[in-house]
Amino acid sequence: MNGKRIMFDCGMHMGYADHRRYPDFSRISKSGDFDNVLSCIIITHFHLDHIGALPYFTEVCGYNGPIYMTYPTKALAPLMLDDYRKVMVGRGEEQQFTNENILNCMKKVTAVDIKQTVQVDKDLLIRPYYAGHVLGAAMFYATMGDAAMVYTGDYNMTPDRHLGAAQIDRLHLDLLITESTYGKTIRDSKYAREREFLKAVHNCVANGGKVLIPTFALGRAQELCILLDDYWERMNLKVPIYFSSGLTIQANLYYKVLISWTSQKVKDTYATRNAFNFKNVQSFERSLIHAPGPCVLFATPGMLSGGFSLEVFKHWAPCESNLITLPGYCVAGTVGHKLSDKTTKVDVDKDTQIDVRCKIHRLSFSPHTDEKGIMDLVKFLSPKNVILVHGEIKNMDYLKGRIESELGLQCYYPSNNETVTFPTTHFVKADASASFIRSSLTPNFKFVKDVTTETAPVQVLDERVTQGILTMEKGQKLKILHEDEVLTITGTEHIEV
Ligand SMILES: [Zn+2]
Repeated sequence: MNGKRIMFDCGMHMGYADHRRYPDFSRISKSGDFDNVLSCIIITHFHLDHIGALPYFTEVCGYNGPIYMTYPTKALAPLMLDDYRKVMVGRGEEQQFTNENILNCMKKVTAVDIKQTVQVDKDLLIRPYYAGHVLGAAMFYATMGDAAMVYTGDYNMTPDRHLGAAQIDRLHLDLLITESTYGKTIRDSKYAREREFLKAVHNCVANGGKVLIPTFALGRAQELCILLDDYWERMNLKVPIYFSSGLTIQANLYYKVLISWTSQKVKDTYATRNAFNFKNVQSFERSLIHAPGPCVLFATPGMLSGGFSLEVFKHWAPCESNLITLPGYCVAGTVGHKLSDKTTKVDVDKDTQIDVRCKIHRLSFSPHTDEKGIMDLVKFLSPKNVILVHGEIKNMDYLKGRIESELGLQCYYPSNNETVTFPTTHFVKADASASFIRSSLTPNFKFVKDVTTETAPVQVLDERVTQGILTMEKGQKLKILHEDEVLTITGTEHIEV
């Protein structure tokens, strides 16, 4: 592939607070001339590990080229980014970008629809496909010259309550780059896992405890909210469910507007009831932290990486009757990552240690595909090469083994800054002259009979071989000619020996 490159996602690492939180952009261009090196940036979805560095890259580093993402991602990303900015400020860190930076960055974004084909420049064509995972998430198909590839971002091969499953066409690919977060996990029934979560929450509030659910404003918050709201209705529970900030209420508004991107079930019931009109959910006031009585609170950010959820955690964790539910996967470096059933004390920052006496529940459902889903997608697309990203090394190594031995495909999991090179298929289009086509019409049948059995039918094979001469003329398309035509054109005589 010559010339420019594509940047797929522009994320940040949630576990770091120094320069390591962002990609090392000097690897792309030492001089900072990013516009001449990149043909575009493609953002798959609004999660910070996929978009967190974008305002920094455009507004601080100065990238000014095209950026593509789906309509919902463009609508929701500013909320995520500003929420993260507030957490940084709240932690007393230097602000990396302002709210104005976020808005200016978003002005440079071109929004695209699922399955909309976009010709970015003369060499590059892109097309998004529905990925499940979070609202607006997309996998991107891209072709550069003859090379074709898909980059998945994060995806889910099974539908959840508010989103559908990933959907993609059977494409002819040189390369598939797939996430592998749960590369070595096969998940059991989702229904059982949801019941387990509901039971833990119900037990806690029935005993007068408080439940803290740290989540990001978008995604899991809506999924769990639909689940809890339905359960509250069915069980006729009166315990209040709160959202920590106006932000999440605002996010729910977006979900209502972007209903066409949600699951079939949500769309089907839309006529009678919008699934994002939560009956039992109200907004939370800071003074309620110390209010007596049970409650359920959704607080941002997820993984207890700082901000309001961490503040509430400090107050609620020391009480035995309370419950904290955490996602199955928390980034290393976050408080969420340090907690387990056996934790009794945790350092939340360098001066504060918290006694943890509450119960900890790990949510075992997540909007990522599991091992089976990854294998299904790889098998369905059967690309010539597979690159695994977004996973732990031991899981990727295990998956690579399965992909190579069971599917016979080349598989790689390069580390940061490592380059993987492989040839792509080149198709050359050529015209064919009429006499060349005529010359290839005469069949050359061969009859074969299996002599080992009497009853075997005779097989007919067509063994025709066609010969022509590929000609190239300046400024003209390639053409295949019959040899006699070439003789005529060049004025050469036909000599038989
Ligand atoms: Zn994600």
